[in-house]
Amino acid sequence: MSILVVGSVAFDSLETPSGKRERVLGGAATHFALAASFFTDVRVVGVVGEDFLPEHERVLTSKGVDTTGIERAPGKSFHWTGTYLRDLNEADTIATDLNVFAEFAPKIPASYEDSDCLFLANIDPMLQARVRAQMPNVKLVAGDTMNYWIGAHRENLLPVLRELDALLINDNEAKMLSGESNGLRAAEKVMELGPKSLIVKHGEYGSTAYFSERSFGDGVKRLPFRAPTVPLADVVDPTGAGDSFAGGFYGYVASQGSLTPEVFRTALFYGSVMGSFAVERFGTERLQETTRQEIDARFAHLKEMSHLS
Ligand code: AMP
Repeated sequence: MSILVVGSVAFDSLETPSGKRERVLGGAATHFALAASFFTDVRVVGVVGEDFLPEHERVLTSKGVDTTGIERAPGKSFHWTGTYLRDLNEADTIATDLNVFAEFAPKIPASYEDSDCLFLANIDPMLQARVRAQMPNVKLVAGDTMNYWIGAHRENLLPVLRELDALLINDNEAKMLSGESNGLRAAEKVMELGPKSLIVKHGEYGSTAYFSERSFGDGVKRLPFRAPTVPLADVVDPTGAGDSFAGGFYGYVASQGSLTPEVFRTALFYGSVMGSFAVERFGTERLQETTRQEIDARFAHLKEMSHLS
């Protein structure tokens, strides 16, 4: 199944304990699309400015990602400035310059209309809702958000959450969304907001999936499932880990053609694998050169590390 992703395509200025980078290619949709491209066909909807050059587009198209839906607008691309000097598991946002995203009205190219799966990557929830409304026939909808939108745009975010087969957020976002400080209670409250399932990412410590009776359409409520992450000695830049996790997770789901409990659990492992590559270098550098063989080897390693008998 193919995936349509809408989200930010950006330039990021980053500072981590490993160093500093100015205006590297980033954005939630970019990281997601790169990671998912190893598993299935990916189409991107977004907007960029005049600073987005053919060499930036080639990062996506060289992986087979369809960029027909990336609109060019006068002005500058979205620019995010963040640091991880306080905590490698959590970005501190220094500046969010929406630039061309401020006036963006998403348009779905006719060639994208048959997309099977929709991913609403991190972006203004109003835009997420608009794209969802334009794709009434998709089989699955998953999405992401962040503190920036949970805080000041909550009213717009709540209707989006009710549309989701799977919501992917991190611990702090779950706590902020629910007002609960305990992780389990926070997850239960977030589920009450309407997503059919919830994946909470715990940074370097793994992720937990929570299910409802509606998760798989069979009325059965399953126990939560926890997936580990790949232990790494050197984390260079955590930017894009969450989006790459989402790309690995959803890309694998789409490649399997249906969402069963087994597919869901395996997909979480692929999410961990793709997230682990993303953080090994700055920006998209590592995902650009990752191979399918490396993905398979890391998946096998993670499986070996975490089963009982
Ligand atoms: P993550 O996977 O959570 O590390 O997401 C990192 C990406 O999110 C960066 O490449 C940023 O360009 C992008 N980003 C940061 N803030 C926002 C925002 N408010 N809206 C959309 N995208 C954002």
